[in-house]
Amino acid sequence: MSILRVARMGHPVLRRVADPVPPEEISSDRIQRLVDDLLDTVEEYEGAGLAAPQVHESVRVVALTLPVADDDEDEEMQVWINPVLTPLTDDLIGSYEGCLSVPGLRGFVGRPGHIRVQALDRFGQRIDRELSGFAAIVAQHECDHLDGVLYVDRVEPGTLGFVEEMRRYGAPRPTGADDGEE
Ligand code: ZN
Repeated sequence: MSILRVARMGHPVLRRVADPVPPEEISSDRIQRLVDDLLDTVEEYEGAGLAAPQVHESVRVVALTLPVADDDEDEEMQVWINPVLTPLTDDLIGSYEGCLSVPGLRGFVGRPGHIRVQALDRFGQRIDRELSGFAAIVAQHECDHLDGVLYVDRVEPGTLGFVEEMRRYGAPRPTGADDGEE
């Protein structure tokens, strides 16, 4: 297990569409090591999630903090392989997002507030669940990385800023979605 270097915006690996993991390869040393390293790395940097392309591996694997069960307060770091997200609402919820690949910045993004997730876990078991609120936002942010999309591509114009300056002067007020802030 190792802490990996995180690719920053501008590195082409972040713009590639990542390859699916063939299910028979999930148990391979390569994928299991990648999962372990993703978990170590996201823990080290205290991120809400991390996608494999962010550690220079262009495959469809993400690690993210999620509620253990739908009506449980507890959270744990979970791993999805080949996730497919389906929005279950047109209603957007907005929040200020940040990204380990875009250090120091935050910007306001609106995303569907209720989604379905279908994926495999690190043991190849099927995951099929619905997520809402902050968990839905994290899921969409991380899975965007698998398609070469960064949150800054979706940010509401005028709301991108440095965290340090927002602490001093407050975050720019978004006009779209609601004004929720994470
Ligand atoms: Zn990110």
